[in-house]
Amino acid sequence: MKLKRIMVIGAGQMGSGIAQVCAQAGYDVLLHDLKPEHIERGLQIIFNNITRQVEKGRMSESEKSVVLARLHKSTDIQDAGGVDIVIEAVVENMDIKRNIFAQLDEITPDHTILASNTSSLPITEIAAATDRPEKVIGMHFMNPVPVMKLVEIIRGLATADDVYKKIEDLTKKLGKVPVEVNDFPGFVSNRILMPMINEAIYTLYEGVATKEAIDDVIKLGMNHPMGPIKLADFIGLDTCLSVMEILHEGFGDDKYRPCPLLRKYVKAGWLGKKAGRGFYIYE
Ligand code: NAD
Repeated sequence: MKLKRIMVIGAGQMGSGIAQVCAQAGYDVLLHDLKPEHIERGLQIIFNNITRQVEKGRMSESEKSVVLARLHKSTDIQDAGGVDIVIEAVVENMDIKRNIFAQLDEITPDHTILASNTSSLPITEIAAATDRPEKVIGMHFMNPVPVMKLVEIIRGLATADDVYKKIEDLTKKLGKVPVEVNDFPGFVSNRILMPMINEAIYTLYEGVATKEAIDDVIKLGMNHPMGPIKLADFIGLDTCLSVMEILHEGFGDDKYRPCPLLRKYVKAGWLGKKAGRGFYIYE
């Protein structure tokens, strides 16, 4: 069975990017979120991204219309009844994700593959909320999705080889590079990246340097394109905190304890770029 119809659940910064690259690769995409205004916000992000591509001469106006016409809106999860693959990109919360996967297991046809874009939650535990753990897999896109090449593909304990192969093929069709990893907290990317970001926030918290100085040291000294404090803002401080909590709990090791300053910012609602304010202020 070929993967043709895709549903993306969650129209936030990741879900909108995933929907965009799927539509650009020729797939029909249902973009699902809880409220119409969340979908409109996601579609606006896609519209702006694609318009920029037209302005830069990378896409024609007619191609833009074709891509936009492949995107369809959904606020009813029952719409998953007609799709071959679901890519879930809702908030980083195990209860919410398990609940969605249990519903998808009831609604979707037997052949449908259920993928999660989780940054760090165990795929095996999400899969256990369904009666088809062999068809559940992690598909971890990087932010911003239209730009970043990597997709970490995470095998749960029960993920079948043919499901892995189909997702590997799909990733390549989206113009991305699949890298296979096993199901451990934070996988590879966030097991390495998030403790660095958390340590940068500790460095700020302890008054070792200003946020600008910390970012400059890492940018200019280690040749990173963006400093870790600004990167945390771009990822979303709520997502960073969730990932640190998952690493802390998953490994039972205090070296992963989230910095209290990160917690404080999340409690204040200063979630980073998407909220207009994180460690930096965004217009
Ligand atoms: P976000 O806050 O921008 O978007 C989440 C969206 O999910 C919101 O639009 C929200 O309305 C929607 N949502 C919440 N509950 C829902 C439900 N029950 N049904 C349907 N929609 C629901 O978050 P994001 O940054 O796009 O992150 C989404 C997922 O992607 C998380 O699992 C995160 O860990 C992962 N991820 C994030 C990044 C990043 O850099 N932000 C990178 C890779 C992976």
